[in-house]
Amino acid sequence: MIVGVLGAGQLARMIALAGYPLGVDFIFLDPSADACANSLGEHLQGDYNDPRLLAQLAERADVVTYEFENVPADVAEFLASHTQVHPAPKALAVAQDRLIEKAFFRDISIPTAAYAPIDSFESLEKAMSTIGWPAILKSCTMGYDGKGQSLLKSVDDLEPAWEQLAGAAGVVEAFVTFNREVSIIAARNVSGAVVFYPLSENIHRGGILRVASSCNQDPMQQQAEAYISCLMEALDYVGVLALELFEVDGKLIANEFAPRVHNSGHWTIEGAETSQFENHLRAILDLPLGTTTAVGKTAMVNFIGGLPATEELLVIANVHLHLYDKAPRKGRKVAHATVRAETTEQLDLLVKQLTTLADQVDDS
Ligand code: AMP
Repeated sequence: MIVGVLGAGQLARMIALAGYPLGVDFIFLDPSADACANSLGEHLQGDYNDPRLLAQLAERADVVTYEFENVPADVAEFLASHTQVHPAPKALAVAQDRLIEKAFFRDISIPTAAYAPIDSFESLEKAMSTIGWPAILKSCTMGYDGKGQSLLKSVDDLEPAWEQLAGAAGVVEAFVTFNREVSIIAARNVSGAVVFYPLSENIHRGGILRVASSCNQDPMQQQAEAYISCLMEALDYVGVLALELFEVDGKLIANEFAPRVHNSGHWTIEGAETSQFENHLRAILDLPLGTTTAVGKTAMVNFIGGLPATEELLVIANVHLHLYDKAPRKGRKVAHATVRAETTEQLDLLVKQLTTLADQVDDS
C-alpha cells in the first residue's frame, strides 16, 4: 500500500514512522530539498501545483493525504478526481478561511466567540462597537501559530492592526477570557467508524503551542466529543481531525479545527494505546481503528527555535525524544519530548524540567 502525502515536514515524518510497521510505503510531495520526511519515502520535489508531479502522485499513491491545510483548493480537487483523497477537499476549503470556518461552526450549532468580517478600516471601527474590547484581529487565510494576528486593547491599536493585515480579508473576534485551552482529536475511517482521544489540555505562548497534556476522564470530554462528532458528520470526514476549544466556566467555545494530525496530539505516540498518526493511516486506508485509551498521564513539550543538548534531555526519567531533523530557525518547531508518570505531581515535575530546558533555547 502506498500513501501519498502533500508536505514532508514533521507531521508527514511521524505519519511515515507510524506507517512502516503496518507495511505502508510513502511518497511525499514537497518543494523543499531538505524537508524532514524526505528520507522516509520517495520525494517528489517541486511546487504543490506542479501538474506533472501531481499526476505522478495521483497515479502511484493508493490514497493521498495532507500534513497541512493550506493546500490550494484546485490541487486537492485535481487529486480527488484521479485518486482517493482523505480528508476530502471540502474540509480543507472550510479550514483555510477563518470566516468560512466560523460560519460553518455556527451552522452546526457549535458556539464560537463573537466575530465580524473585516474588509476596510471603517468596517473594523464599526465592528468594535458590537464585538467590544479587547478583541483579536486575524487574517482570514494563511494564519497559524498566531501569525497574522493583532490584539486590540484600545482605539490606538486599530490603525497598526489594520495596516498589518495589508489589505487581506480579516475577521475580528472577541477576546475569550478562557479558564483553559483544550483540544479533542478524533479519527473516522472510510466505513464510518469513529474513535475519540482523551482531551488534551494545551498551553500556548505567543500563539504557539508549548505544552500539551492528556486529560483522562475530563469533565468536558462528552461535550467535546459531541462537537467533533457534528463536525465530522457535516464534513463527511475521513482521517484524523483536531478541534481546538476554549473552556469558559464549564462551557466549550470552538476556536478552530485542523483537518490533519495535530501538534496537541503528539503525546498519543507514547500516551495512548494507538497514536494519532497510526489511526490517521488506519482511517484513510479503511482499516479497523485502534484503541485510544490513555496509558498513564502524559505531557508533551515543544522545542521551538533551538534544541538543548540531547544528553541533557535523555537524562530525564522516562523521556521520549522526537527530533525532527530540522535546522533550528526563529520560531520553528524542531523537536518535542514526551513524558509519562503515575501521578499529576510527578508529571508536573518532569514537565518543569523539560520546559526549563525548552525556554533556555527558545527564541520566539
Ligand atoms: P489561533 O491561530 O486562532 O489558533 O490562535 C493561536 C492562539 O492565540 C490560541 O491558541 C489562543 O491561545 C490565542 N487566541 C486566539 N484567538 C483567541 C481569542 N479569541 N481569545 C483569546 N485567545 C485567543
